[in-house]
Amino acid sequence: RQQQRRLLNHFISKAPEQTGQPIPFRFTLAVKDNIATTTATVNSSPTSASSDPPQPTPALPTTCASHFLSTYRSPFEATIVSQLRARGARLVGKTNLDEFGMGSHSTHSAFGAVSQPQSQSDPPGNNLLQLSAGGSSGGSAVAVATGEADVALGTDTGGSVRLPAAYCGVVGFKPSYGMLSRYGVVPYANSLDTVGLLASGVGRIRELIVGGGGGGQGGEGHGLWEEWDARDPTSLSVAARRRCARRREGYSPQEKERGVLKRVKFGIPLEYNIEELDPRIRDAWAKAAKTLQDEFGARVVPVSLPSTRHALSAYYVIAPAEASSNLAKYDGIRYGTRDTDSGSDATGGVLYAASRGKGFGEEVKRRILLGSYTLSSKAMDNYFIQAQRVRRLVRRDFNRVFALDNPLHERETFDLTDLDESIVMEDKWGPEEVDFLLCPTAPTLAPRLEDIMNQTPVDAYMNDVFTVPASLAGLPAISIPVPLSETATDDAEKSRTAGLQLIGQYWDDARLLAVAEAVL
Ligand code: GLN
Repeated sequence: RQQQRRLLNHFISKAPEQTGQPIPFRFTLAVKDNIATTTATVNSSPTSASSDPPQPTPALPTTCASHFLSTYRSPFEATIVSQLRARGARLVGKTNLDEFGMGSHSTHSAFGAVSQPQSQSDPPGNNLLQLSAGGSSGGSAVAVATGEADVALGTDTGGSVRLPAAYCGVVGFKPSYGMLSRYGVVPYANSLDTVGLLASGVGRIRELIVGGGGGGQGGEGHGLWEEWDARDPTSLSVAARRRCARRREGYSPQEKERGVLKRVKFGIPLEYNIEELDPRIRDAWAKAAKTLQDEFGARVVPVSLPSTRHALSAYYVIAPAEASSNLAKYDGIRYGTRDTDSGSDATGGVLYAASRGKGFGEEVKRRILLGSYTLSSKAMDNYFIQAQRVRRLVRRDFNRVFALDNPLHERETFDLTDLDESIVMEDKWGPEEVDFLLCPTAPTLAPRLEDIMNQTPVDAYMNDVFTVPASLAGLPAISIPVPLSETATDDAEKSRTAGLQLIGQYWDDARLLAVAEAVL
């Protein structure tokens, strides 16, 4: 059973083998199990000339790795899944995650913990010595790392695509907030949730987001960034997309050659060089900065983002607050598995409490309690309102260092005298305006599952310290793997990689992807 569990732990359900003539496809796709899917195969390919067409298979469940939804089958499909099918995706299965996306190691799952693929056989038999695959989209990162999927869908609220990408040695991209449709994606924290893509290289992701790969036919040619979805109220409107694109004119996303980097200026945010940063990651970061400068001819300058140190606390107030509201609908009556032990004469309250008590895991309950508390009338001003202020400061820090304007927020000045006095109020921090920020994705390499089990929840939250700032500001960010080999001391370490993150200004996704592709 253990063996089976280990083999299956990154997939929650797999698409059945195809019978009959296989449908032509351009790439295989794994989908995080908090994204709604219906049938595994769709029998609608216009190019299929088969006389024996494959039958549509039954719906795959959408469980969010929760006991509450363990048998749930969605009657509709997420827009992003349909968009990818139209571009030639074949769904291979639904991947494991932290329940409802809440976690950093894919260990809070009703289906067991995910582990990083390179560590799965080492040493055999002891799961706890295996390494974390990162979370919450850990299953998606493993599916890409093992080659079972060319592309995987994840969700990134505070780093859940970028952190697993860093731990598993693959590429993870979080787009600008509002770019990709969230219709059919089970919400965790609406003001932060984005759909992200994982792949082994940047090229495939860039082709899907920016377009141009499929010759312009059958929905393959134009990029996902252009597609507004009327069914997602946070999908950026057509007019706003146009306005953002106009502001980006002259910054051609088509330049693929190495020369693209010559005109680019990278900022090294000094506040990300924290004491807890693993020295091997610090070395890889410094080396990458040097390579950009010496080999690619880019300019690299230090920058300051002073509100960074408050970002993590603000995130862990805002995200649970929104989650506590989102998860209220799971009551065992309208949504979720009903607790049948309560008896048929149980009142609503008893049934509700019993169903939620059994249906949710520990971490989800912790977030609900935290969120309900910070939104309560006595605590609201001290926590939720304060966190929203910090969020604005984080956004302003970014707007200050980027050369491009944020098309959604003009540069502004605030009177925030009630906050930390070390925060300087001028609109611009200094003369250096950069195109992208280069920083680590996580402060450490993938830890062992055993060590994670002994961590406090706050220790686990610390892993997100470098990913949440871009989430709070809604900015695009990508994690790319870089080798540790230079500083590695043994063979096992020589094959390990660290994740480095590039962060761009809002709606500068196309250029971010072009630069990431040139660097990798
Ligand atoms: N680890 C973060 C959290 O638990 C991020 C999760 C995510 O991006 N879905 O909230």
